[in-house]
Formats: sequence, C-alpha cells, structure tokens
Amino acid sequence: MTRRRIIYDGKAKTLYEGPEQGTLIQYFKDDTTAFNKEKHEILDGKGVLNNRISETIMLGLEAISIPTHFIKRLNMREQLVREVEIIPLEVVVRNIVAGSLAKRLGMSEGDRLPRAIVEYYYKDDGLGDPMVSEDHIAALGWAAPHEMDDIVSMSIRINDFLSGLFLAIGIRLVDFKLEFGRYYQNDTMRVILADEISPDNCRLWDARTGNKLDKDRFREGLGGVTEAYHEVAQRLGIFPGGQKGEES
Ligand code: UDP
Repeated sequence: MTRRRIIYDGKAKTLYEGPEQGTLIQYFKDDTTAFNKEKHEILDGKGVLNNRISETIMLGLEAISIPTHFIKRLNMREQLVREVEIIPLEVVVRNIVAGSLAKRLGMSEGDRLPRAIVEYYYKDDGLGDPMVSEDHIAALGWAAPHEMDDIVSMSIRINDFLSGLFLAIGIRLVDFKLEFGRYYQNDTMRVILADEISPDNCRLWDARTGNKLDKDRFREGLGGVTEAYHEVAQRLGIFPGGQKGEES
C-alpha cells in the first residue's frame, strides 16, 4: 500500500493529499477531545457516524446552493473534498443559550434567544480560540469585509436550514460551529463552507426529553456518546434498519 501524504493532522480528522490537484481526502477519526485536548478518548465508530452525518448535511446545503468543500463520500471514514485556504475563524451560531454563552453572560442554559446570534473565535489552540469582533477580523486581515458578508449570510441560511431539518426529526438545534475557506478556481476565489457539521460541533437536544445528543455527553462525562450520534444518524435516515457504523 502506498503511503499518502498527510497535509494536516487534526484532533478529529486527518487531511491527506487528494487524487487530483485542488482536492483532499478528509478522514474521520474516532478520537474525541474536549477542553483544548485535556480530555481525549477514542470512541469506537464515532468517525464513521460523523462522516455519514456530515455528508447528509453537506448534500442538503448544496441542494439550497450553499457552496461547500464536499465533493463525495469515498468510504466509511473518508470524503473527497475541495482544497481550501482555511479562514482562521470559528463561526458559532446560537439559537438557545448554552455552553460558553451561559457562562460568560450568566444566562440560564436552555433559554431561547430572541434571534440567532453569530459569534467569531480566532482559531488558535495555543490561545484557547479567543472570541474576536468583526473589527479585529478586518483590522488584523483574517478576512476581508466582503468575505465576512458572505460568511454571515451563509451562516444564517445554514442555521435556518439546519434548524428546520433537525426540528422535523424532533431535535432542537441549540448552537453549532462552522469553518469557511477560500476556494481558488481558475482566476476566481470564493468563500465556501469547509470542515464538517456533525454532533461534534453542534449542540442537539431531543425536543421532547431535552436529552443531549451531541459532544456535550463526552464533555460532561454522561456516557452513551456514540449511541447518541447514532440516534441522530438514524433520525436523519442514515442506516435505515442497519447496524451501528455499518457501511452502505
Ligand atoms: N464548538 C466547536 N469547537 C470549538 C468550540 C465550540 O465545535 O472549539 C461548538 C460547540 O460544540 C457548540 C458551539 O460551538 O456547538 C458553541 O460552543 P461554546 O462557545 O458554547 O463553547 P463550549 O461550551 O463548547 O466550550
């Protein structure tokens, strides 16, 4: 077997060089980390589930004309994606108070926000991904104002789409994190959605019981993490009648 060149080895995914110029292979690992890597576990089958969940969501977004890096799923753990220059921001969209928002502003977890809130964090593990404003982003040149316009409008559309998608399967979309990248094609550049959308970077609560169906189960040591991800996959229509992590 020939060894593929690793382009980037992240916490939950590895990016390998792709078969053609301008493509990469995104490999979903079972590694799960929280609190800036202080907590780390291998959760059997998590990567398989996130690969399928993210594929389903990216295809849905493509259907409403959100440009994404997703090209196709290759196998249980890998996707072919477009190579982008990652914009060093984590874009968080919130519908319901939870996590760092609850802590920072002393608000009660579970309160519905009057409207969706978009926040930006500078992607730097060494600094613990500090929150930044659009002014920091513009002044420090992380993204141009016209790129931020695209990022905000895509983030709001993605939130509306995902809120409806999850509501239809009895899940409340509390908040989620997005990453965007610059995609160069011939002489043009456009900002497209990158990374993944999965229970690793969304908060998903069962609409009836309030049960957490996302990475907070891992962060809070609640157990049943892959079972919860599997529940999300199953409700999305992935693995109809199949076994956990079964390829199809
Ligand atoms: N999030 C993420 N990666 C991060 C930080 C946050 O995917 O490095 C996601 C997280 O899963 C949640 C949302 O972004 O869905 C908002 O997270 P928050 O700011 O509340 O931070 P946390 O409480 O997770 O530290």
